[in-house]
Amino acid sequence: MLLRRPALLFLLTLAQFVLGLEDYYKVLGLNKQASDREIKSAYRQLSKKFHPDKNPNDETAKDKFVEVSEAYEALIDPESRKVYDQYGHEGLKQRQQGGGGQHHDPFDLFSRFFGGGGHFGNQPGQRRGPNIEVKVGIALRDFYNGRTTEFQWDKQQICEECEGTGAADGHVDTCRSCNGHGVKLVRHQLAPGMFQQVQMQCDQCGGRGKTIKHKCPVCAGQRVVRKPTTVSLTVQPGMADNVKIVYDNEADASPDYVAGDLIVTLVEKEPDLENDNPEHVDGVFFRRKGDDLFWREILSLREAWMGDWTRNITHLDGHVVRLLRKRGEVVQPGHVETVPGEGMPKWHEDGDSVYHKTEFGNLYVEYVVVLPDQMESGMEKDFWAVFQKWRGKKAVDLHKDSGRPDKILEHDGHAHEEL
Ligand SMILES: [Zn+2]
Ligand SMILES: [Zn+2]
Repeated sequence: MLLRRPALLFLLTLAQFVLGLEDYYKVLGLNKQASDREIKSAYRQLSKKFHPDKNPNDETAKDKFVEVSEAYEALIDPESRKVYDQYGHEGLKQRQQGGGGQHHDPFDLFSRFFGGGGHFGNQPGQRRGPNIEVKVGIALRDFYNGRTTEFQWDKQQICEECEGTGAADGHVDTCRSCNGHGVKLVRHQLAPGMFQQVQMQCDQCGGRGKTIKHKCPVCAGQRVVRKPTTVSLTVQPGMADNVKIVYDNEADASPDYVAGDLIVTLVEKEPDLENDNPEHVDGVFFRRKGDDLFWREILSLREAWMGDWTRNITHLDGHVVRLLRKRGEVVQPGHVETVPGEGMPKWHEDGDSVYHKTEFGNLYVEYVVVLPDQMESGMEKDFWAVFQKWRGKKAVDLHKDSGRPDKILEHDGHAHEEL
């Protein structure tokens, strides 16, 4: 497999030479029905993946990077997309020759998404924006089954209207007051013939070195806008509570720096009883601790003492775990039964997404025994007779009286196997 890959890439590059340019939808990994949001999201992912800063000395990646930005520009503009859909690459070429559509430098385009002049990595003088942490609540059910979902946050983005220039007409002048340096040297006279030179931030441009005559109406010249941004999120089965997922360079963007990372913490939501466990609204639900699950099951006095009962617990994916005792099998109050393999799926951070049925934690069922509030008169009489017989005996002796002294404290049923 490892040997074949470069060969395949080479063949693909060769094919491009022969057949001309690769289909733009294919380049972005999309189909023809793709929405603008999908196009943007594909660009975000692929442009980072193939950025030359992240793939030094890799010409194939560099070509890919250029190709991805071309594909994005062709498809994000409705008019150019229409031409491309109808006439393909040849149509776009003619349109450009006729003056239609503009081609950006691929690094310019990249900087409109991620800021920082189109580069990241450790270039000298390159500033990096702050990382941002976001918490997203995930239901236990989704931690168990896995789920692809979305969340929104207010992200600072480079203004699309002015492409981060801050100018309505795209026209940015070099500040005349400071000649674009952002700072000015000011001479103070200390005494006749004695001067002190002090460097001060330029008051005309606020230190940016640039001035804008007509401010962009969308961002008011700020070059950035903050707006709700949707991020897609994949919860893999068994991911740990409080696991952190890092989205490289997806924090606030600015023309002044390379965007930092967006760090998403998945936090288990308090169970929503009506939606998460419709059959168990009386305060009974699964609790998680690492790879194990905990469940509390209520038994009546008769069930605990006499046995002969069945419980069907609906698990987080809808399958049923059956608990049962035969007649005469006693369950002590507070007894915890282990049901192997009915806990959480075990997730490995190395990205191994193959789960075997055996790679599950345990389910621990704790039994709570509830005594009746009142006794019916006949019942009371019968019990009285029984307990008179045991009067004065200690708990240890009672175990013996039950006739099954070894089994009293061990009731590890294998109920789940009988399904
Ligand atoms: Zn703007
Ligand atoms: Zn200035």
